[in-house]
This record gives sequence, C-alpha cells and structure tokens, in this order.
Amino acid sequence: MIGQQAGLMEKVTALCKRRGFVYPSSEIYGGLGGLYDYGPYGVAMRRNIRGLWWRHVVDLRDDVVGLEATILGPEAVWAASGHTVNFTDPLVECRGDCKQRFRADHLESTERCPACGGPLSEPRRFNMMFKTHVGPVEDTASIAYLRPETAQGMFVNFKNVLNSMRVRVPFGIAQQGRSFRNEITHGNFIFRLREFEQMEMEFFVQPGEDERWHAFWIEERLRWYSEVVGIRPERLRLREHADEERAHYAKASTDIEYEYPFGWGELEGIANRTDFDLRTHQEHSGQDLTYQDPETSERYLPYVVEPAVGVDRIMITCLLDAYDEEEVKGETRVVLRLHRDVAPVQVAVMPLSKKDDLIGPAREVQRVLQAVYRVEYDQTGGNIGRRYRRQDEIGTPFCVTIDFETLEDRAVTIRERDSMAQERVPVTGLLDRLRERFA
Ligand code: ATP
Repeated sequence: MIGQQAGLMEKVTALCKRRGFVYPSSEIYGGLGGLYDYGPYGVAMRRNIRGLWWRHVVDLRDDVVGLEATILGPEAVWAASGHTVNFTDPLVECRGDCKQRFRADHLESTERCPACGGPLSEPRRFNMMFKTHVGPVEDTASIAYLRPETAQGMFVNFKNVLNSMRVRVPFGIAQQGRSFRNEITHGNFIFRLREFEQMEMEFFVQPGEDERWHAFWIEERLRWYSEVVGIRPERLRLREHADEERAHYAKASTDIEYEYPFGWGELEGIANRTDFDLRTHQEHSGQDLTYQDPETSERYLPYVVEPAVGVDRIMITCLLDAYDEEEVKGETRVVLRLHRDVAPVQVAVMPLSKKDDLIGPAREVQRVLQAVYRVEYDQTGGNIGRRYRRQDEIGTPFCVTIDFETLEDRAVTIRERDSMAQERVPVTGLLDRLRERFA
C-alpha cells in the first residue's frame, strides 16, 4: 500500500467517476470549484456512513437525541455565535504573475507565492459564510446565511429539547446535514468542499465535568473509526490543537487525523466549546438558557463537548484506506477493501449466463438475500471474471454465482473479494453461511 501512495488520490478520483461514486458537479457546464455530486454507489456509501454514525452516537446510547434544523439562519444567529466576525481564514493574494489566492495558514512561507514565486499580499481576514436574502425585499433585515456548521441549530433549540424531552445533563443533541463554507482553496477531491455534509453532536455537561467528557468522546470516536468503520488504526492519530489555531469558541480541541497521500490531515475535530455558545445566545436573545439540576436545584449554563466530522471526509478516508492493486494472472486487479458495513453493495448475485433456466433461481437467491443484505443483481457486464472485477472495484465483499450445476445440485458458489477464494454451498444453507462469513 505504501508503495502505491504515489498517484493514489488520482486513482481513487478516477475510480469514483468511472464506477458511479462521485462526479464533478454541473460538469457539462464546466463545473464549479469545490462542489461534487454523488452517483448511485456514492449515495449508498454515504447512507451507510451516516447510518453507522447515527447508530453509535445516538441509537446505542440513551443520553443522545436527534435534531434537524434549517440550513438557512437569520443574521442574528450568526452575529451571536461570533461567525459574522470570527469565521474567517487569512487570505493572501499573489502580486506576481499568477494572481492566485491562498490560505496563509496553509503556506510554509508567506513571503513568496508557492505557484510562481512572486510577492504575496499581507494576509486579510476572509469570511467564509455564504450570504443571501430571505423574502422579496433585499434589505438588511432580510439577510440570512447558509450555515457553516450544524452546531448552532442545537444551541438555539437547546431550550426546546430540554422542555419537550425527558433529558437531563449530561446529554447530547446530534444532527446530520449540509453545511457551506466559501473555502479560499478547495481541493484534494472531496476532502475540502464548499458544500459538504456534517455530523455533529453537542454533548451538554456540568461545568467541571467537561474535561472528563472531552477525553471520553475523543477515545470513543477514535475507536469508532477502527472498530466500526474499519479504518487501519496505524493510519490514525490524535493531535491536540495549539493555542493559536483553536476556533474562537473552544477551550481545547483535539483532531483525529488520518495519514492522507498529501500528509496527515484532520478527519474529525473534538472540541470543548465550554458555555460559549449558550452564553452568547442567552445574551443576544434575552432568553434564559440555563439548566436547573432537578436534584440539587443548582442552576447553570452547561459546558459543551462536540465531536464534529464531515460525511465526505469519512468517505474519502475510507476510499483511500481501502484502495488496493495487485497482480493477478499478469493483470492488475483493483480492489476496494471496504468494511462490509460501508461497502455500497454487500452481496452481488450473478447468474452465469442470461439463459432463462438460471434467471429464475438467481432471482430467488436475490430475494432471499435482500431481506438481510444490500444486494445487487448483475446478469450483464460480460463474462463472470469481468463481473467479479467490477464488484472488486466497488468493494463488494461477496459474490454469489448461480451456474448450470445449480439446477442439478441446488448449490451456488460464494466468491470472496479479498482472497478471491470460492466455496460451494447449498442454497438452503446460503444465508447462514453468509452470516458466518460476515461475522
Ligand atoms: P480547517 O481548519 O481544515 O478549515 P476546521 O478545523 O475549521 O477545518 P471544523 O470546523 O472543525 O473544521 O469542521 C469539523 C469537521 O467538518 C472537519 O473535521 C471535517 O471532517 C469537516 N469539514 C470541515 N470543513 C470541511 C470542508 N470544507 N469540506 C469537507 N469537510 C469539511
């Protein structure tokens, strides 16, 4: 794998387009930087990622509830949260030939343009929020923003959730949904986008308990990547933010980083946001956002620990981590060694030929397996070897083949993606055998 790091991003990008995972958005019109559309397998993979996150952050816990807030928010929200002033990146422009723009904190030197060597301007603060107007009159009262993070939805609904649900601190509110950032430099395929999908959870705790919960969620989230999503643990690490790089609301922040082909980069951030957000919304809205402990009657503004990640960021990480090439019979076999719960298709069902005799039993196998797995029925696409290769490229863990012998012995072949080993099993025992192999 290490030897394949060169060109890995390009190979994964090409595979994603070729096999229907990711397409450049509005491509027939030349596209727009930092925007991508997801094709059929991309959609399936993203649903799996969202589902695994929701299951482990919300469903398997009894102290986290869900929320879906709007993407558009009035200016008041973003003024209170500090985003209209502080949600900026330092922008520098080339004053030489190429006139390109860069994020100053991403450059090794702010003296010379990394593209053409020309002089660079002084950094200026560039606000990354997309601004728009709501309603027919474009006046200052109608200004709204596309949210740059989903978190504010949880803070402005804190009292609603508290009053309508039987929640007690410590508890969390989780949300998945689109966020928008007018990034100065987008790039590395879907790593840094201008429209992306976030999964965030605000965990409200008693002040003083925040550091313990921060440590808890860092460990919990790290474990999720290796144990649930199947990312290689040796390619993950934790990195604590230095004082000067922390967001305006955070007391401490730790990133889970992955070793991308371009170096270590942030996969997820876990921040201790203190009571910054509830306090500022309380001040700006004039509403009481305190919590009263039902046992001690103590009243306070809870502190918040927040794990925040992007679906797109997890997707590119899974794809890079899973991509593999190997030599088989003088040909290069491309395999996505995706975790079974992340793979868009779990079992492909294939009749050996298009003859009617085989289609009936193959459809029957499909029907049985569909009740349990994400199944694709594949009777086109040429000979069986070619169809296996296609499933390898989209990361399907198992193929089940129905051949002419099936009609005699009522048995089918299970072919495994990683080893390519084949096993013949009776149709009646197929589901049990797959359950064992998936376990
Ligand atoms: P950076 O400093 O790299 O711009 P950030 O530290 O501001 O990013 P956060 O605000 O912590 O990012 O965002 C939380 C998570 O949301 C990130 O860990 C990442 O998974 C995802 N994310 C943030 N920005 C983007 C983006 N432009 N495209 C895709 N995913 C993103």
